[in-house]
Amino acid sequence: MDKKIKVNLKERSYDVVIGSGVLADIKKYVSKFSRNQIVIITDYNVDTLYGNWLHKLLKGEKVYLLKIPPGEKHKTLSAAAAVYDKLIDLKISRDALFIALGGGVIGDLAGFVAATYMRGVDLIQVPTTLLAMVDAAIGGKTAVDHRKGKNLIGVFYQPKMVLIDINTLNTLPGKELKNGLAEVLKYGVIRESGIFRMLEGNPKVTPAFWEKLVYLCAKIKAVIVSKDEKETTGLRMILNFGHTIGHAVESLTKYKATTHGEAVGFGTVAASLIAKKLKMIDQKTYERIKGLVSRLKLPTTVKLKANSILKVIRLDKKVRGGKVHFVLPTAIGKVVVRDDIKEGVIKEALKELGCK
Ligand code: ADP
Ligand code: ZN
Repeated sequence: MDKKIKVNLKERSYDVVIGSGVLADIKKYVSKFSRNQIVIITDYNVDTLYGNWLHKLLKGEKVYLLKIPPGEKHKTLSAAAAVYDKLIDLKISRDALFIALGGGVIGDLAGFVAATYMRGVDLIQVPTTLLAMVDAAIGGKTAVDHRKGKNLIGVFYQPKMVLIDINTLNTLPGKELKNGLAEVLKYGVIRESGIFRMLEGNPKVTPAFWEKLVYLCAKIKAVIVSKDEKETTGLRMILNFGHTIGHAVESLTKYKATTHGEAVGFGTVAASLIAKKLKMIDQKTYERIKGLVSRLKLPTTVKLKANSILKVIRLDKKVRGGKVHFVLPTAIGKVVVRDDIKEGVIKEALKELGCK
């Protein structure tokens, strides 16, 4: 049975539909919107796997398939501009329906294009990576990168629907799966110890397992976004667990040597160690979190200088108006946000984790 989650945002509410094989019913989902033109935006890899197929399934409608090269380095204003060019050439109108088919890169970029083309065109998110399914595709954050930093140019723009086909995970490379698992683990620590236990329990990785896992994570994201759409109440901030130090690691390794998931995996261990040092969690809880990070084959140590990491965090602080917020666990399934963490404690934790 397909599962449905509602993102509750008054007139901007929408459903997240999760199931194995839901994409085969794309026509049914799209017909609810009854549009003249449909534009699928995808990358070359996902196009080969699912783009053409989807295009064929939608036969009979006016459907266009636009492709960009894969990878974060193409999540740029110039790639967006190339998409605008094609949309204008094809005379795509304001009442068209866009479908973002791909991972987080496509979701962010197609979302940004949908938000801005003709002041906004309706969009369905069809995430095909684990990361995008549990995180990026839900919540309306869209952006492109700037050479000075990731996601610097963007806008909140909620989709009309998120359609998650678990079967697309079958083709996802292990490295990308791991990337998403770091976020899944995050949900386990911040909100739902059941997710943590699902990963811990030597699971049999069946479609039903993925369906349940993605459902539980997407549900948390949907609830948090429904309560704090634009990160104004502070609740959405807990999604940054593992990301404060994680982002610093990504930035110091120039987004190449470490993937987002690896950086977040390490950030998770570091935040948990800080919490342990502040006696917010005990040794056993810390070991459990670290143990799971390592079982997921994510790093529990990095070879960077503690001072370099602190420097990036300080820079972040300046950009964000003077405060660094650390999301720290008080148990598996519970976190608090703190803005009073002393640099000394962070440094001590980083050194204990192998930083110089
Ligand atoms: P993320 O979702 O982690 O932000 P991307 O959007 O960059 O990542 O996607 C990661 C890579 O995986 C890209 O090269 C993309 O083309 C590829 N990809 C996306 N979905 C699938 C899939 N279902 N099967 C195989 N490869 C995929
Ligand atoms: Zn993340």
